[in-house]
Amino acid sequence: MTETARPRRRLLVISVDAMSVVDVPFARTLPHFARILEGSWGSAEAIYPSVTYPNHTSQTTGRTADGHGIYANEKVTPGERVPDWFWDARDIACPTLFDLAKEQGLSTAAVGWPATGWSPSLDIAVPEIWDRAGLEPTLAVLREAATPRGREYVDRHAHEIGWDRKHRFGRFNTAVAADILRTDAPDVLFLHLVDVDSARHATGRFTTEVKEAFERVDGWLGELLAALEDAGTAAETDIAIVSDHGHVEVGRVLRANALLARQGFVRLDADGEVSSWDAWVHGCGLTGQLHLHPEADETTREKVLALVEDWVADPEVPVQAFHPLTDMHEDYGWSGPFLGILEGVSGTAFQNLWDGRWLIDRFDAEYEFLLSQHGHLPEQDIQAVFAMTGPSIETGRRITRCTVTDEAVTFAHLLGLEIPDADGRVVEEILRPAPVHQDAVGQEAVSQDA
Ligand SMILES: [Zn+2]
Repeated sequence: MTETARPRRRLLVISVDAMSVVDVPFARTLPHFARILEGSWGSAEAIYPSVTYPNHTSQTTGRTADGHGIYANEKVTPGERVPDWFWDARDIACPTLFDLAKEQGLSTAAVGWPATGWSPSLDIAVPEIWDRAGLEPTLAVLREAATPRGREYVDRHAHEIGWDRKHRFGRFNTAVAADILRTDAPDVLFLHLVDVDSARHATGRFTTEVKEAFERVDGWLGELLAALEDAGTAAETDIAIVSDHGHVEVGRVLRANALLARQGFVRLDADGEVSSWDAWVHGCGLTGQLHLHPEADETTREKVLALVEDWVADPEVPVQAFHPLTDMHEDYGWSGPFLGILEGVSGTAFQNLWDGRWLIDRFDAEYEFLLSQHGHLPEQDIQAVFAMTGPSIETGRRITRCTVTDEAVTFAHLLGLEIPDADGRVVEEILRPAPVHQDAVGQEAVSQDA
């Protein structure tokens, strides 16, 4: 009816995976982090499970795992040594920001963002996906999961994918994102960088390698900021740094499925592979999801629950509590196809494997696993960071505590979108007042709340 005076706003969201609020003082010594942190920042509580894919999906949907359906990093595949992850955007059970933006005619891009493979709505998707067999098969599946326009960027920058024992996407993702910002200048771009997280897993929470990862990421932030300048879009772009969880030092690895096998709930064939199962613990970092076979009877269910109670009572088994699904749903908005959650004693990493010893601790000569992990109760330990700067954002404001779902609702608000049934709120305290307009109807159009 009346033309709105809403100024054009673009959004660049950069996930520095596993960056926490306690990293801010160091990050401020780095030039490009410092520029973004001049805006507003604070701590953001993860959803449970505090692992990467569920939280990144909350950052694009405003929903907890109950709403978006990405309840773990990996798909539950008992007996599979290397399960697939939730790479496929079609597994998300609710609308994403990308879907909502498309409906409103905004152009969207995502690079390395979890659960964006085979995206039905992104204009440009270069998703996170890999094949552990090597670089060539990884490139093949990446091309397959990308959108047609994304595939062009994959081909242009494929030589920048690193590979040692596994994929290293940081350099590649940054080059692709900077190229997209210059070439396509989308309204919305989400980018995921995992270098800090990888360094923490491999070497511990606060090591030289983690520091170097921050320095590397800072250089990449500089490339992205330069790309916005080159494209002439810097002045209208709100920029966010988000993260998905903190980290906890790992003290031991628990293979709960090896314990289930000893009790006959997991059965192995002559080669030691899983032939059938009644119960299965799906590792989710520092917690485990207890699954019951869909065809298991009531007696089996009772036996499995009794066994789990024994674990909780036994000081030799590092399981601190069992939380039934109904409690998890009520307290954390977490549900899925399982009976409940095994919470490890602090620093207990759950592995899906069923063979070898069931418990391996850090003093053990055989210990060759992660030194730092997450997946713990979200309110515990060091919190993730949320920082924003840009034309819509106040300078120098502090967020006492928000959630990853609040981040998505705030992004939607900044883009003039509304998320249906959101589990979060707009983080109002960081927003500049909406610009003053000459007519009241135009004003209304910019002051809507999600
Ligand atoms: Zn993560």
